[in-house]
Amino acid sequence: MRSVIVVGGGISGLAAAWQLRGRADVTVLEGQARVGGKLRTGTLAGVTVDEGAESLMALRPEAVELAAAVGLGNALCDPARSPTTVWTHGALRPLPAGHVMGIPTDPAALTGTGLLSPEGVRRAEAEETLPAAPLTADCSVGAHLGARLGREAVDRLVEPLLGGVYAGRADRLSLRAAMPRVAALAEQGTPLLPALRRMRAAGAPRSAAVAVQGVAGGTGRFPQAVARACGARILTSTTARSLHRLPGGGWRVHAMTSDGPLTMDADAVILALPAFAAAELLRPHSPLAEEELAGIAHASTAVVTMVFSRARSHFLPEGNGFLVPPVDGRALKAASFLSNKWAWLHDSAPSVFVLRASIGRIGEDEVLDRPDRHLVRTAIAELHHAVGPMGEPLAARVTRWDRGLPQYDVGHRERVTRIREAVGKLPGLAVCGAAYEGVGVAACVATGRNAAKEILADD
Ligand SMILES: Cc1cc2nc3c(=O)[nH]c(=O)nc-3n(C[C@H](O)[C@H](O)[C@H](O)COP(=O)(O)OP(=O)(O)OC[C@H]3O[C@@H](n4cnc5c(N)ncnc54)[C@H](O)[C@@H]3O)c2cc1C
Repeated sequence: MRSVIVVGGGISGLAAAWQLRGRADVTVLEGQARVGGKLRTGTLAGVTVDEGAESLMALRPEAVELAAAVGLGNALCDPARSPTTVWTHGALRPLPAGHVMGIPTDPAALTGTGLLSPEGVRRAEAEETLPAAPLTADCSVGAHLGARLGREAVDRLVEPLLGGVYAGRADRLSLRAAMPRVAALAEQGTPLLPALRRMRAAGAPRSAAVAVQGVAGGTGRFPQAVARACGARILTSTTARSLHRLPGGGWRVHAMTSDGPLTMDADAVILALPAFAAAELLRPHSPLAEEELAGIAHASTAVVTMVFSRARSHFLPEGNGFLVPPVDGRALKAASFLSNKWAWLHDSAPSVFVLRASIGRIGEDEVLDRPDRHLVRTAIAELHHAVGPMGEPLAARVTRWDRGLPQYDVGHRERVTRIREAVGKLPGLAVCGAAYEGVGVAACVATGRNAAKEILADD
């Protein structure tokens, strides 16, 4: 049997290990004390809370299918039904149904919502009548949608969604990479809104913000279940430090463990790492791959989780939470009312109300330099303005995700093609993870499984 080392025990690496089960002797090296990466469940005031990803993107099947395959089928659950809400112009304002990543497929439905000015609504409505020259090169989401729908729609409707998914900004994110369906329509030279309405009528696309599923007990259960089911040898607290090609084929990994250095050889290696970590290991073997990977920017974010006593709070908000457009200058980019959103959480801790606030988009590192207690105070103060006076939490925790979300800047798809070509020249080596074809959990599962297939196809 071939031996394979998977470096990185996030969901991408574990999905690769799952794909290899029974077909290779697999060892997963994970630098942290537990597997899961950005899928991490913890306990706060005795309540189970997700500190990283809180849901699985269900627009595409890979994550929910793998969760079911590893025994979590019964734990998959839908969030409470509630419209996507934007905190802007001093109030929480639901986006009308039918939006696609904030793009209003029926701009007239925005009238009276207070989301856009009457001129902003008219400008978005005019999209259908604008000439649509076929797009020939990638551009930013903001440049394309600004030209089609007007800047106000980008600032107030699209930016909040991009902040929620990528912690990114419309003027940087690539249309092709972040909104491939919209890019495909732009390349055909088709007016956007009628085409999106036709696609919706045919059953797709749904908004990314609503098409998610949770895991009862926390999404952190998902990587743990994959790790158990994949049959791989899992070495935690083991950080790969360097990678060497063996003269007869195969690779040697030098790692550092809590007990000291470790050296392992294998026929193949899968790097399931953030781009900057993969860049380090690839430097001696492919300067081109190293340079391209190191060129991918990352946004840092902080998640402020708070547990409130229901008995002692004067006020508790309704709905699933809200998103915030950067144009309003708030520190919060989103808030998720977990006890409203997830029935499993409400049922397991009925006497408390749990919410999480997210802070930090690309370019907003200054706010994240503040100490934890300051971020908690900021979150409480802004929540007070957004929803009402909730009082003081019983407990609060700040979880920092330094360089946690890769940015798919303009030209990202072409960059990924160059990386894959460069890595393809290194036999027995594959890469996967959030840096390539999608940051959502489902896309990460897909890249992990594809990397494993590449390695098996080398046989
Ligand atoms: C705060 C937050 C909220 C999110 N919410 C959602 C959500 O609700 N839904 C959704 O679909 N997506 C969400 N995402 C995105 C998604 O969770 C991530 O993109 C995805 O989990 C990344 O998985 P990964 O395996 O590619 O990378 P990671 O999870 O980063 O895993 C990589 C692993 O490699 C390890 N590692 C790094 N260097 C080394 C080394 N040298 N040796 C050994 N190990 C190493 C790390 O410790 C880590 O465990 C969220 C992301 C963040 C940050």
